[in-house]
Amino acid sequence: AKNERRGSVCVFEPAMDLQIREKRALQRELALALQNDEFELHYQPQATTKGEIVGFEALLRWRHPVRGMVSPAAFIPLAEETGLIGAIDEWVLRSACREAASWPKPLAIAVNLSPLDFGRLDVPALILQVLLETGLDPKRLEVEITEGVLIDDFSGAIGILRRIKNCGVRVAMDDFGAGYSSLSYLQSFPFDKIKIDQAFTRKLEINPDSAAIVEAILSLAHRLNLPVIAEGVETESQLAFLASVGCGEVQGYLIGKPGPIAQYRHLTGGATPE
Ligand code: C2E
Ligand code: CA
Ligand code: CA
Ligand code: CA
Repeated sequence: AKNERRGSVCVFEPAMDLQIREKRALQRELALALQNDEFELHYQPQATTKGEIVGFEALLRWRHPVRGMVSPAAFIPLAEETGLIGAIDEWVLRSACREAASWPKPLAIAVNLSPLDFGRLDVPALILQVLLETGLDPKRLEVEITEGVLIDDFSGAIGILRRIKNCGVRVAMDDFGAGYSSLSYLQSFPFDKIKIDQAFTRKLEINPDSAAIVEAILSLAHRLNLPVIAEGVETESQLAFLASVGCGEVQGYLIGKPGPIAQYRHLTGGATPE
């Protein structure tokens, strides 16, 4: 009888309340996901505009026992709210470096770090530890960060980026152009690469402004001697435009979708020797 009453209360529960409960449930489950081994990495190839594969980006996936695959867009923000993101990104970094170290070909591996990691972890020390542990050549590792990293503590952030670069690891600015201060950040922070946000790539054919912005980003990057990768490349005509304005590298469904590394063994140099 008690359950029945509780059930009937639920019917009238405002949608808002349900959303909050759903979110709390996901957050609780997220806390267990690491120890239950529910995370996995998918890998998406990065290529030169001429078609040579130069590396992979590691993208996190949560294989939930009941809900199925949960998108990082849904759970990364929750992990950031609860502070779990540090442990998750540490797992991603370690797993991706271990995987890449096993490839016969010395391709690059790009790993995403949350802006919040920089306040909570000693990121350069962690990177150094993982490099030692996995034996990965530092030159092969690239960390992708968004400009949010740098907002809170400007001079602190510069120091952290320098320490990462001193390990021999590259730092790429992810989602370039999507934020408010991308341009001034380029001047202040020692980035090694710019990753053009996929919003610009997507609109290349339909919005002349997008083409103009991408062209401007590339001429700026050339002046600053910064390599550029464009993300979200889905069509041959996007690729052709990017190549025509001197974009060096591309990533997107046209080259390959994110998938389990087994799917890309032919690109990493074959099966891992055991
Ligand atoms: P992001 O770093 O900007 O990653 C690019 C996203 O675009 C990925 O979504 C990728 O699957 C998707 N994508 C790649 N090529 C194409 C394309 O041609 N067309 C379209 N429409 N989409 C494409 P995903 O894997 O769902 O990841 C979403 C975001 O979650 C990432 O955006 C990143 O910000 C975050 N994320 C993923 N893995 C991690 C991680 O290990 N740590 C942290 N902190 N964040 C992560
Ligand atoms: Ca990224
Ligand atoms: Ca991005
Ligand atoms: Ca993003």
